[in-house]
Amino acid sequence: MKKRADALKVLVVEDSKVTLKVLCNFLERMGINQLLTAETGAAAIDLYRKERPDIILLDAQLPDIDGFEIAKQIRAKEKNDDWTAIIFLTSMTKDADLARGIEVGGDDYLLKPVSEVVLHAKVRAMQRLVEMQRSLVYLTQQLNAANKELQRLSTTDGLTGIPNRRMFDELSIREWRRCERMKKPIALVMLDIDNFKLFNDEYGHQAGDDCLRAVAAQVARAAPRAADLAARYGGEEFVLVLGETDADGARWVAENVRQHVSELGILHATPSRRVTISCGVSSILPQSGQSLETLLRSADRALYQAKEAGRDKVVVNDYGKV
Ligand code: GH3
Ligand code: MG
Ligand code: MG
Ligand code: MG
Repeated sequence: MKKRADALKVLVVEDSKVTLKVLCNFLERMGINQLLTAETGAAAIDLYRKERPDIILLDAQLPDIDGFEIAKQIRAKEKNDDWTAIIFLTSMTKDADLARGIEVGGDDYLLKPVSEVVLHAKVRAMQRLVEMQRSLVYLTQQLNAANKELQRLSTTDGLTGIPNRRMFDELSIREWRRCERMKKPIALVMLDIDNFKLFNDEYGHQAGDDCLRAVAAQVARAAPRAADLAARYGGEEFVLVLGETDADGARWVAENVRQHVSELGILHATPSRRVTISCGVSSILPQSGQSLETLLRSADRALYQAKEAGRDKVVVNDYGKV
């Protein structure tokens, strides 16, 4: 992380060849061996673009573009997390010019003729700032990555890898509001594994977990559109949010998942001899006076009816037609 003086890349922009030579000697003597030089403003900007030096010693007066303008252009080119320290070299002693240098983006200034001791001190001070900025960027990147991972973990179900209840709570209301604005129906499908307690009792909890993962994969397959969401609602229950979908569309989706789960052929000690699911479907046109909770209750009631009717079934509760 830390840059030694010899790892610093310094660009010296100075049109007087004599001054340029003197400055380079001073810098070499303090151990800086990555030295770049430019004698015009255009060359300076070109080198900045290609090399991204850590520190620029910038003559305020150059034959083509003046130093203040160069500093402005460099600051405009910098991205969020790269920063170059700029030290103006100036023989002007008017306070207003020094102030202007800082105003346009300079960090410090050196008066010509430059003293070796002062140059060393100022380059050291800038080096400290460069190092602090680098470690700040590094820490920010670490923090962003950690936050992203935390966000992913907090919205993903650890067992099945699909979105969890929290994600469902967040996204379903967003989708509800979107459908309300679009004046389109929204559907929910509640899916529940049949006789799953018995499955765990018969084959053990580990096999139960494997079964949950396999069923989750089938549920997730049913939600390929960006606006769809498949989530683990809790235990052996899953939920599908289908935007812009009416009862018939949702029935078709649920029927597909039911069939796919059955076709997995996971052995189960029930009359059908395989793991099956029951689905409760409900669709509604979001309007005032209705809510997502109403829709959820309606889908839950349909699921209950599917269980009552013998399981491995899809029951639709078309709220709009009730
Ligand atoms: P029904 O057909 O009426 O839904 O009956 P069921 O046995 O599936 O329903 P019940 O609610 O009685 O049992 C659900 C079972 O799901 C009980 C619980 O042990 C099991 N279960 C819930 N979460 C997990 C899990 O993460 N892993 C495993 N292996 N089992 C789980
Ligand atoms: Mg000059
Ligand atoms: Mg169940
Ligand atoms: Mg259940």
